[in-house]
Amino acid sequence: MMTFGEELESLRKQGLFRNMRLLRGEQASRVVLDGRESILLCSNNYLGLASHPLLKEASIRAVESYGAGSGAARLVSGNMELHEALEARIAAFKGTEAALLFNSGYAANTGIIQALVGRGDVIFSDRLNHASIVDGSLLSRAKLLRYPHNDMQTLRRLLAETDVNARRLIVTDGVFSMDGDLAHLRELVALKKEHGACLMVDDAHGTGVLGDTGRGSAELCGVMADIDIQMGTLGKALGGFGAYVAASREIVDYLVNRARSFIFSTSLPPATLAAAIAAFDVVDSQEGAILRQQLELNSTRFRNGLTEAGFNTMGSMTQIVPILVGGTEETMDFSRQLLNSGVFVQGIRPPTVPAGSCRLRCTLMATHTREDIEEAIASISTVGKKFGVI
Ligand SMILES: *Cc1c(COP(=O)(O)O)cnc(C)c1O
Repeated sequence: MMTFGEELESLRKQGLFRNMRLLRGEQASRVVLDGRESILLCSNNYLGLASHPLLKEASIRAVESYGAGSGAARLVSGNMELHEALEARIAAFKGTEAALLFNSGYAANTGIIQALVGRGDVIFSDRLNHASIVDGSLLSRAKLLRYPHNDMQTLRRLLAETDVNARRLIVTDGVFSMDGDLAHLRELVALKKEHGACLMVDDAHGTGVLGDTGRGSAELCGVMADIDIQMGTLGKALGGFGAYVAASREIVDYLVNRARSFIFSTSLPPATLAAAIAAFDVVDSQEGAILRQQLELNSTRFRNGLTEAGFNTMGSMTQIVPILVGGTEETMDFSRQLLNSGVFVQGIRPPTVPAGSCRLRCTLMATHTREDIEEAIASISTVGKKFGVI
């Protein structure tokens, strides 16, 4: 048996050891990292709401009125006015009968999937789905069938081959978090209808950003009314923390009774709830529309600049723009050298992505300026040439 120390040593040798960098101050487009100013290109604070004055003010007021903590799980005494107000807001935003809060996206996915399917049931999951979907699937003990990324033909065949009497759940990211491409939601809706399956979409990266009014990937694809379970998070474009599911009243009631990460966990605190309500206000305002436009403009400008320089952005269609590098060491060195030239981007390596497809995962924010983007492209190009990537 390897000791913990030996195992860590082995991770270090393979270039897979992870550690955290210290970022001082707010999640802005330029930050002070390990003592020097850098352009922040790896935050999911897509609309810049994490330090928006309305969210801060709402949080402060909530603490003054309701205190710092919620005191208990929702089913005990931790169900406060703000929980219900935020859920009503989310259901209205998504156009569903009901919504339910979870403490994080990770807790939502593990809780929802574990609750909805069990032994004898089948989960159809895109191979590039987020780790929390995989973990929820394993917890559920249902049979897990992972189909190749966005491969609708294989999914159709798998659906046709499985027992129609089992509960069948198709689950996909709306925007794939390491590639920045989109699920084929129209085809998924057609398939789930054809086969009588249930469809769950994790829209962690689409919520607040995609679609004319920021409702997410379902709005972008015109299938708002056709997704059984819409999961999203409050910690990315919405600038705060937490997650939700928007669904029918029946599904929500079922989850309240069956989702263990909901039942056995202290509920979100008042400051977080109030910030989320304020975030939906911003998303629904004129300012929200402008922020979405700016984000799209920034993403397009960045993607085009990189493509012109000769980089492979791996089919990205959103504010998540990966740059394919290849090997683990090379990718991590690339990211270290970029940091030395004032650009903060994380290298992504196994087990998050398959070996050989290590990449720099860049994420844009609405608050990046044209200068930020041009400077970042120039630095990435300089280092890219050095490494022979372009
Ligand atoms: C970030 C993310 C999650 C987890 O959400 P948290 O609120 O950070 O726990 C789940 N799914 C996807 C696709 C994500 O990108």
